[in-house]
Amino acid sequence: MPQLKRQRTKTLKVKDNGRSADYVTANFIYGCLGGCRDSYCYVMRYNHDKVYINENTEQLLASVAKHADALAWPKRPNQTDPTYYTYDIGCSTDIGLHWKHYDWLQVFAFFRNHPTAKATFATKYVNDKLLDFDPQGKVRIRFSLMPQKMSDLVEPRTSKIADRIAAISRFIAAGYDVHVNFSPIIFCEGWLDDYRELFEQLAAAVTTPAHRAMVQAEAIMVTHNPWQHERNLAAGMTEAEAHLWRPDIQEHKKSGYGSSAVRYARGFKAQLCEEWLAVHDAVIPWNTVRYLF
Ligand code: SF4
Repeated sequence: MPQLKRQRTKTLKVKDNGRSADYVTANFIYGCLGGCRDSYCYVMRYNHDKVYINENTEQLLASVAKHADALAWPKRPNQTDPTYYTYDIGCSTDIGLHWKHYDWLQVFAFFRNHPTAKATFATKYVNDKLLDFDPQGKVRIRFSLMPQKMSDLVEPRTSKIADRIAAISRFIAAGYDVHVNFSPIIFCEGWLDDYRELFEQLAAAVTTPAHRAMVQAEAIMVTHNPWQHERNLAAGMTEAEAHLWRPDIQEHKKSGYGSSAVRYARGFKAQLCEEWLAVHDAVIPWNTVRYLF
């Protein structure tokens, strides 16, 4: 079991992003106890043993305020948000899961009250505790979705996919901006049928035009890593690894951190993206895909 370590981080720098958000804040928490830690989680490639809880929340928020205050206003609209500058607050943990360990109310309230900055994070957990807070549209939660069959294998002990989908309307009603995060997309036999079913579930749950306009998506094909693969096998994740580690259809790439990673081979991946998007657009054409890669 990873060790929880409370500390005051000296790393306060806000980083550029441009995909899930305009920027990524320094970590409020670095590390995760999520059910996918012995599976595809990229955070675990660099930090598997500890969960660092950074207690200097005020300093971390001050760095966001300083960063946001230096940006031109109004913002030029982009795929992350038409109005606000977006900051991912959960790139190295799952905020929905770890809410107990830090002052999430202070962080959410900061973004709700800030005139130009908006928070966003992806989660695999439905945490109704977060419904006690009304972020007035200034916190975006991105529920991660994949077919339940695959979720059972690669992200055990996370919220059921049906529960994540059912949570969308509740979180919108509570004042959250809600998107979905089709990530990671994992190719397997029958995957397009499984995704068709998932899209149909989403269509049945998100029915009003206003909600359909709000709930946009991001979609990311799985990547993996050699030492993570070995460790996952040692942890007994054999069945999951049979899907995650596919040397027959994957190729090496240099990851953003300069370390070794694998992804679906370029031409094959392009074909997968095209097939996935065709099914997506046939079933839920209202769901804007912000990016797919
Ligand atoms: S919930 Fe996210 S951060 Fe946590 S283990 Fe899973 S993928 Fe990693």
